[in-house]
Amino acid sequence: MTIDAADLKRMFDAIAVAIEADKDRLCQLDGVIGDADHGIAMALGFGAVRDALASLDLATTEPTTLLNMAAKSFLNAVGASSGPLYATAFMRGAAAVKGKATLAAGDVIAIVQAMAQGIKDRGKAEIGEKTMIDAWLPAAEAAAAANLAGKNLAQSLEAALAAAERGAEATKDMIAAKGRSSRLGERSLGHMDPGAASAVTVIGAMTVSLG
Ligand code: ADP
Ligand code: MG
Ligand code: MG
Repeated sequence: MTIDAADLKRMFDAIAVAIEADKDRLCQLDGVIGDADHGIAMALGFGAVRDALASLDLATTEPTTLLNMAAKSFLNAVGASSGPLYATAFMRGAAAVKGKATLAAGDVIAIVQAMAQGIKDRGKAEIGEKTMIDAWLPAAEAAAAANLAGKNLAQSLEAALAAAERGAEATKDMIAAKGRSSRLGERSLGHMDPGAASAVTVIGAMTVSLG
């Protein structure tokens, strides 16, 4: 089984639909510990990606080109901090599969790992600081471990999704140390981080679409 540009476009379409459906919940979560715009930011970003990719000739487009286009359109559309974080994620994902016309399961796992590392490098957040990293990093690690253990792509992405869900849940017990919500200090306790919540939605749509 291989993944090509058309599959990646379908994946981004699926993420856009899932984020749009989740927009209000994400704004509500951000309303509690941030500025209530996270759902709007993510919907704007993935809507722009969907629109940009619609103009591509998929038969002649390499995965790396498509992912770089996603990065650029996400960055241009989103003024919130999630803009550069996801743009870096897609740019790193693009670099991870440069020169490949089609992707094997291991390449998709490499994209997920590069995305998580890109978000970490860009935002400088560590595990436990109540950010999207608390979902993305364990998700990438779980996907890589499952792949290494001989699981197929669907199983590896399922493992990533389960780890992201656990990570997002765990942000409820964390004190925000990065981003806007860090100003709240201990008052951020008891609430799920919106960026970790949306990471679960993104990884969930990737899992359904590619798995
Ligand atoms: P803004 O805070 O600018 O309004 P968003 O609401 O779109 O941006 O995104 C907020 C989310 O961004 C947070 O819930 C958190 O998960 C994530 N975030 C903020 N700063 C960082 C960072 N330095 N590293 C990783 N993630 C971060
Ligand atoms: Mg916000
Ligand atoms: Mg904002």
